[in-house]
Order: sequence, then C-alpha cells, then structure tokens
Amino acid sequence: MSMVETLRGPVATAGLGRVLIHEHVFLMDAEYTLNYRPDFLGEAMIAGAARRLDALKAAGYDSIVDLTVLGLGRHIGALSAVAARTTLNIIVSTGIYTFDAVPGPFRFHGPGLLHHTDIEPMIAHFLRDIREGIAGTTIRAGELKCAIDAPGLKPGVERVMRAVAQAHRATGTPITVHTAPAEHTGLIAQRVLAEEGVDLADVVIGHCGDTGDLDYLMRLADRGSILGMDRFGVDFAITTAERVATIAALVARGYGDRLALSHDCCCWSDFFPRIEDYHRAMPNHHLLHLHEDVLPALREAGVGESALDAMFIANPRRHFEAAAARFAAQSGAAA
Ligand SMILES: [Zn+2]
Repeated sequence: MSMVETLRGPVATAGLGRVLIHEHVFLMDAEYTLNYRPDFLGEAMIAGAARRLDALKAAGYDSIVDLTVLGLGRHIGALSAVAARTTLNIIVSTGIYTFDAVPGPFRFHGPGLLHHTDIEPMIAHFLRDIREGIAGTTIRAGELKCAIDAPGLKPGVERVMRAVAQAHRATGTPITVHTAPAEHTGLIAQRVLAEEGVDLADVVIGHCGDTGDLDYLMRLADRGSILGMDRFGVDFAITTAERVATIAALVARGYGDRLALSHDCCCWSDFFPRIEDYHRAMPNHHLLHLHEDVLPALREAGVGESALDAMFIANPRRHFEAAAARFAAQSGAAA
C-alpha cells in the first residue's frame, strides 16, 4: 500500500479522495509578518483557515497539496494549529520558490562558493523535511517544489531545480514546478529535470491553466507530466470561461489523464492588509470556486463525470503512487 505524508501523519494514497493539487493555507513574507502583522497566529487567522478547509471537506473534497515552501512563508506551527482543527488532509511541501537568486543562506554556501561544499546544501534540507520532519517536528513533506517564471533559467533557479530533482531521486517524492506558460518555461523545467534523471510523469507542471496554447500544453503532456490547471479564480490572468474551454479541448483530445485542477489560493495572507481585502480584490479566488462555479461550467462544456473524477482523484493519486513505486523499483534494483 502506498502512503503519502500529511500534516497529521501518513495517509494511504487510496484514501486521498478528491484532491486539490495546488493550494496554500498561509502565504506570507515571514519577516514582514513577524514584524508588522500582530494578527499573525491569532485566533481569527487560525479559526478562519480551519473554517475554510472544513467547508471544502463538507463539499466533498478530502485533501489539498499545500505548496508553500521557503520563499512563500512556510510556517509549520501555524499549519499544525490549523490541522488540529480540520479533518481535511493537508500534504506539506519542501523546496524553494524563487524566480531569480537563491535565498541568503545559500548565496555564499555551496559548490564553488565562498564556503565551498562538494554537495549542494539545499538537498540536505529537503531530505530532512522528507525523511525526518520539518523544523524539529515529525511532520514530513510529501511534495517537492521549485519555480521557473518569466526570467527563465537564472543560475539560482537552476540550482534549486537540480537540488529538487536530486532530492526526488533520493526519496521518490513527486515534484511540482511553478511555471510561466506565456514564456513556455514548463519545457525548460522538463529539460532540466529530465537531465537529472527525473521521470517527467512524476512532475506537475504548475500554472498551465494560465494559457490556452494547446500546442504547448500537449507538448508538455506528451512527455508524461500532469498539467496543473491550478489557478481558477485568478481572473486577471485569464477568465474562467477560457480556462474551462482549454480543459474541455484537452479532454476531447484524450488528455483527461494528464490534468489536475486547483485554485492556488490561500486562507490567510499578508499580501493584502486584511483577508477581507484579498477577497474583495479577487472574489472568485477561494477554495469552493471550482466546486460551485467551475464544475457546472465544465459539465456544460461537455466534460463528463469520469474525466472529472480522473482530474480530482485518479490523476493526483497516480502522481504520488507512481513516483513512490518507481523509486521503490529503482531502490530494489540497486540493492
Ligand atoms: Zn502556489
């Protein structure tokens, strides 16, 4: 039986149920929050997040992948406080989110740098998060994350991506990459990850839903990756109607087994002065938008129940199971 780590311990992949593959419970600039947001870790923040996650569970969804890593304000204490109040499974991630430079602690520390090490030091951090637990807890990461946005393969971006790939090779933990579809950076991520020996079926190419460029999307999917149609409610990028039309077109072309849906939203963030300001600025960017607004539109566009089940259940489950199975087979072959 294949297992995946969550905030409340390992869960059988068969029990993940309906999964949203790219969300955030909390998103913040941790330094800013600690200095200027006295509401951080307050009752309103924790209870509000638990209430939103419970509402998602009540709507029939069982699990989310929280892709908040270094650079986005991962805070295991805040996550644990919420996890104690909701029955939703929350899969936590490790990795680094940057479009350019590496975070300060790695700037002078690593192969060929002022403080030279033979091995990339990020890898040990990722492995500890996956094997032992995050920040002194027993909560383990179940997903790896890196990013490549419009600036492309900057040296810091490449360093993180190769470290993430190597942590994946050492553990079988699957990968999500934040990409910029307008610049086709998903193809660059696939090239670099493949160079590191990653099977591209173990990778979600994030934010694919921000484009309607079917040729680009099919190129990514033809190499085995799952396409993250994962920003429903980010209406300033592309409308829900356009996102729905793209999914319907891909399903009609036989790509229903390569798609997974999500919002990339959060329950609390310091990106806005108050959480109410976020919801006013982005009224559709919440955890129930897919369920309430998008599913009816997908059905209307001809996407059937079996395709919807694949996108929410079978494809996310395969993302975790296949990576673990491939790793077990490779470790067995090597032993
Ligand atoms: Zn995200």
